[in-house]
Amino acid sequence: MIKEFASSSGEMVIKIDYDKCNGAAKCVEVCPVDIYRLENGKAIAENVDECIECCACVETCPNGAIEHSSC
Ligand code: SF4
Ligand code: SF4
Repeated sequence: MIKEFASSSGEMVIKIDYDKCNGAAKCVEVCPVDIYRLENGKAIAENVDECIECCACVETCPNGAIEHSSC
């Protein structure tokens, strides 16, 4: 299942593939503006408006679970 998290304008979208996400939490550690946290062992994204589009989350996830519209 893929879950989408969008900015308030809808222009920026983060998609997390929950078939791939294993709760590694690398995204939580690497995001400089704390977009991610774990909920029930899976990553969720909050306050996507604050994302600075650095793409570290996409590059760091060991399972390729994150897609980002800017990366
Ligand atoms: S780094 Fe990837 S696998 Fe780990 S919690 Fe984040 S999205 Fe899930
Ligand atoms: S692109 Fe950068 S700022 Fe945006 S969610 Fe990913 S790690 Fe965080």
